[in-house]
Parts: sequence; C-alpha cells; structure tokens
Amino acid sequence: MNTRYRRAVLAGNWKMNLLSGDVKPYAQRLRELAERRARREVLVCVPFPLIPAAVRAFRGSHIAVGAQDVSEEPKGARTGEVSAAQLRDAGVKYVIVGHSERRQYHGETDSVVNRKLTAVHGEGMTPILCVGETLEQRELGIQGELVTMQVKAALSGLPEELLRRTIIAYEPIWAIGTGRTASPEQAQEMCALIRSVLRQLYGARAARAVPVLYGGSMNADNAEALLRQPDVDGGLVGGASLDPEKFSRIIAAADRLETPGTV
Ligand code: PEP
Repeated sequence: MNTRYRRAVLAGNWKMNLLSGDVKPYAQRLRELAERRARREVLVCVPFPLIPAAVRAFRGSHIAVGAQDVSEEPKGARTGEVSAAQLRDAGVKYVIVGHSERRQYHGETDSVVNRKLTAVHGEGMTPILCVGETLEQRELGIQGELVTMQVKAALSGLPEELLRRTIIAYEPIWAIGTGRTASPEQAQEMCALIRSVLRQLYGARAARAVPVLYGGSMNADNAEALLRQPDVDGGLVGGASLDPEKFSRIIAAADRLETPGTV
C-alpha cells in the first residue's frame, strides 16, 4: 500500500451467503470493530435482497454498501436484472463488475463488463473492476497479456476523471475460494502491471491515484504481507468477510501499514 498517493480499500464480498436476519448483528459488530480511519474505505458488497437492510444497518457509519453485479442496460425488458439507477436509488455506493464468477457462470465478456462499468459511473457510483487469470493461463505464462487485455477492454472509452473514481481488483481465479493465495510477490507483480497499463493509457498521475486491490483467499493471517506490497492497495475479500471478526482483522492489518502522517 502506498497511502501517500491513494486510499486503502477493504471490500467484503458476501457472494450468495447470509440472510436478512444476519445483517444487523453483522453490521453492529463490524461497526464496533472497524472504527473510522480517515484514509481508508471499508465496504461490504451484499446480495441484492439484503441491500435495504444493509444500508439501514450501516447508516451513520463510515462503512458503505456495495452490490455484486449490475445490468448493463439502463431499464426495461431484462427480467431478473437490476439497473444501476435502482442500485443508486437503494443507497449503493460501489458495484463489483466483471467478477470471475460472473464471467465464468454467466458468460460475461469484456465488452459486457465495459458496459456495466459505464452504467455504474453513469449513476455516480464507484465500480470495482475485477480481472484475473485462470490456473491454466498462469501455467502458460500468459497472465500478464490476459490481464492487460481485460483492463484495456473494460476501461475502453472511460475518461480520466472517471478512471480516478474506479477501483480495480486483481483476482487470480485459482486463488478465489480455494484457500490458495497468490504470494505477496505475485500479487505485487500483477498489481504493478495493472498500474503500468493505467499509466500507459492515462499517464502517471492518474495511474498513481487508482486503488488496485488483491483478491483471492485473503485472510487475517496473510493480509499484512499482501498489503505491505507497494502496489497492493487493499483487498476484495470473499470468505473471510462473512465473519466481522475476521474481516476486521484484515482491516486492522491495513491500518497498521498506513503511511505515517497521512491520516
Ligand atoms: C472474491 O469473492 O472475490 C474472493 C476473493 O473470494 P475469497 O476471498 O473467498 O477467495
């Protein structure tokens, strides 16, 4: 992390877990454990039906509510989908786009991801763009090209002022939900690569301002080593975010690494 240039971001992703009755006790506990620190953002991306309860439960705190997906269409005949306007209207501030589970199980292409990212910005919310390679692609040594392509395609047409309101998460698919984490060096290498792509597209100042997160079996034991890397600005945390105690230990690791004098 380099909190001189950009904020740390710790984002939980509940995926398809928990029920409405779990929201209030979770929020109460996380609020107790993760008090505000000026230079970091904490948010929890919850399933669509839990959004209203989560927005209520985190109201008045510095913990925001995010969604896990969005329709690329603004409105109309898209049965089962939820628009960016509806998410904003419900109190959502962040939206995950292009999560590998959406790409894998719902056939989301880079161009759909690009449209979703544009839709999220269109409603003034912050997209968390997920990119990352499969195990097979890593074994072939093509993770760099693949992630470069994903980033360029997803950001196509995005002006610099909106890039500065975008978060990118490097999530190697082989590390998501598997208990197998990328090493700090692997995470750093890929997050630095993403930043170099941003530099190429938008220049050094803009690239320096964008938080690039790592996601993939991050937990309280490995978080500090990952977050210590200069280009790893936070985490997108699945399994470990389901328990506020575990999630808050990851947040605490980020707080310990904050650059002195920046709060
Ligand atoms: C994720 O949901 O994006 C994720 C990284 O999950 P996990 O932390 O469980 O690997």
